Amino acid sequence: MLLARFRMAETCAETCVVLDGKLIAEKVKSEVKQQVDSFIAKYSRAPCLHVVLVGEDPASLVYVKNKAKAAKKIGIEGATHRFSSEVRRADLEDLILHLNRDDEVDGILVQLPLPAGIPEQDVLGLIDPIKDVDGLHVINAGLLSAGRDALVACTPQGCMRLIAEASVKLEGLNAVVVGRSNSVGKPLAQLLLRHHATVTLAHSRTRDLGEVCGRADVLVAAVGSPMIIKGDWVKRGAVVIDVGINRLEDGSMVGDVEYEVARQRASVITPVPGGVGPMTIAYLLHNTVRAAIARKNRQVRPYA
Ligand code: NDP
Repeated sequence: MLLARFRMAETCAETCVVLDGKLIAEKVKSEVKQQVDSFIAKYSRAPCLHVVLVGEDPASLVYVKNKAKAAKKIGIEGATHRFSSEVRRADLEDLILHLNRDDEVDGILVQLPLPAGIPEQDVLGLIDPIKDVDGLHVINAGLLSAGRDALVACTPQGCMRLIAEASVKLEGLNAVVVGRSNSVGKPLAQLLLRHHATVTLAHSRTRDLGEVCGRADVLVAAVGSPMIIKGDWVKRGAVVIDVGINRLEDGSMVGDVEYEVARQRASVITPVPGGVGPMTIAYLLHNTVRAAIARKNRQVRPYA
């Protein structure tokens, strides 16, 4: 059904398919729940996720609460460890090393951003790569770049699933990703490459961003700047994935793409909210179960 609608949309932009991220995330979570149930049946314990939260960033508090709630709902166990922003770096490091050693812990997630003064890369670098469910350890990033098995960052996996749900065949398509962060842009570019797209990574120094975006059959915006991607930059029939989350002064939430105009030109588009956002949590749960199974099977031992 979706495929048929998508094909139609290629020729008629007015029939643009708006991907329902909430619905697709529910589908992913029900797949993960089945894996959780099988894991419990086989190993007599649930997969276990521990989240580390430092400071009082209001958005982070909400994200962590939502992650814990979603995990619990499908039977993943775990805990959240909270520190004040004045935490001694040694205490934070001790906790991560302790969680690494704890055989009952399958996944460790350090909620970003960390308060100023705590170097993120140093902290992330302490996490055992096999438990690195955010996929941000350099070992996992490197394995992904080398086309090897890895724990891959959650948001890019969510974007790929959305593209797959729209039955888009990426091979040979021009994909433009705007934003080159370690958590979104770079890993997503690697995944798109893996699917044989021709990938351009744009960023703050890119010249003539409009022209670059205009060449995209698949356009992903991951900047964090409200409506920076103008609707009339979108190539007719393009697939548009909007990762951006921006709060406006009136409290409303918008993405990075000028949605209403882009929707008139795109064949497939994700809304904000309700697009990529729910997918990120779903793939955190997916990664947690994947890490749990891999640890039991000793499959992903990147440093072996
Ligand atoms: P970062 O701030 O880490 O990266 C932003 C990227 O955008 C950088 O590569 C930067 O370029 C680029 N950029 C900044 N200004 C411009 C510009 N004028 N033109 C082109 N590129 C520009 O952000 P994240 O990747 O962490 O997140 C991006 C957005 O996605 C944010 O809104 C964030 O909230 C959202 N997000 C949403 C998630 C979800 O689940 N929906 C999950 C994760 C993030 P340079 O490298 O040159 O500085």
